[in-house]
Amino acid sequence: MIKTRFAPSPTGMMHIGGVRTALYAYLVAKKNNGVFSLRIEDTDRNRFVSGATEDIIANMRWLGLNFEEPPIIQSDRKEIYKQYANELVKEGAAYEKDGAIWFKMPQTGQLKFTDLIGNREVVFDLKDQKDFVLLKSDGFPTYHLAHVVDDHEMETNPVIRADEWMSSVPKHILTFQALGWEVPEYAHLPLILGTDRSKLSKRHGAMGVSEFRKDGFLPEAILNYMALLGWTPPGDKEIITLEDMIKAFSLKDVHSTPAVFDITKLEWMNGEYIRKSQISKLKSQIWEYLMEISGEALAKVEHPTEDEIEKVIPLIKDRIKKLSDFVPLTDFLWEKPEYDKAQFEKLVPSGVEGVNIKDQKDVLGKIMEKLEAMEKPWQAEVFEKTFRDLADETGLKAGDVFQLIRVAVSGQTVTPPLFESIKILGEDEVVKRVAYLIALW
Ligand code: GLU
Repeated sequence: MIKTRFAPSPTGMMHIGGVRTALYAYLVAKKNNGVFSLRIEDTDRNRFVSGATEDIIANMRWLGLNFEEPPIIQSDRKEIYKQYANELVKEGAAYEKDGAIWFKMPQTGQLKFTDLIGNREVVFDLKDQKDFVLLKSDGFPTYHLAHVVDDHEMETNPVIRADEWMSSVPKHILTFQALGWEVPEYAHLPLILGTDRSKLSKRHGAMGVSEFRKDGFLPEAILNYMALLGWTPPGDKEIITLEDMIKAFSLKDVHSTPAVFDITKLEWMNGEYIRKSQISKLKSQIWEYLMEISGEALAKVEHPTEDEIEKVIPLIKDRIKKLSDFVPLTDFLWEKPEYDKAQFEKLVPSGVEGVNIKDQKDVLGKIMEKLEAMEKPWQAEVFEKTFRDLADETGLKAGDVFQLIRVAVSGQTVTPPLFESIKILGEDEVVKRVAYLIALW
């Protein structure tokens, strides 16, 4: 039985980089019909951040990286670590100094192990190694002891973790051996860098998972994109479901060189997921997003019902990359827009000399007459022809006439398709808005 785990420290909110570690461990377990666990490594009380544990658990659930419930919390296991530290002292492998328990490192020889990533043999000279603390004077274990004890008891194999732990492997292997336990295999995942190849940070758009969530990213897209940072799915297929990843993934195919996180690529991928999403699914995703994520801000304004979201999805699906893009693009459909005079003035119908706001309002007046004369419910072809004819009559370009209507209806120069938007708003509301704009300045 293959057992893997994700073992984050709650020293901060769950970071996007951690998603890859968690995902690879999840994939290995699932591929082998094994068990995937979450272990919260909260033994460094100085660096403990309140709320981080909850954030990690909530984001793991949101991402769909389901783990064995309940998660293991190291601070609940203090007594167990102490017992093993004492056992090591009794056997002469460790000693007590300054209230802490230290592991005695041999000063000669070499330690070799083969990392599963790239099948790399790594050799350490033990003369470079120093004794290290197993149990601190506050009674909490260090990572080194807690890792060995927990991964032994949990029967973790392989241990999948970040590259930064590679240099600690001698400590861990020697501790396993001193306790008479089998040493697991290790997979140290390559670094993730920013596009400028420096350490990944906020500058590169790499944030906490919760921030990506608030920004309107889908969990499927995040998992898919992070999977590609160090692994190439068969056939170079970039868009791949979690299910297919489980089938195809293997640690031996993970690259041993650093991966580069590119936020624009993640945004592109998120857009791809939105486009291929079923309307009913996207409807609930947008609805949940509006209610849960931006709920506070939205409580103050009008927001669409689920039915209204469903109606508008076909119009915007191809135009949004993130769920958050839904709001600015469709706001005008649920709320009377704010009109911007400067923007309106800039809408000088092209090719007409000396046009001013008054002339534009004259055109709007004519638009209004046509709208009022048009038989309801308005038909797309009639609408189109009416305003093409108006353009001819007034010597304007058809595009300018439609753009004036667009701004009158939405307060924006970019909207989903105009006639479809008008149909969602309803004829009366459109006429009201045009009238309002004519009277405004
Ligand atoms: N708590 C360690 C960290 O967050 C985890 C290392 C591991 O996976 O063993 O870096």
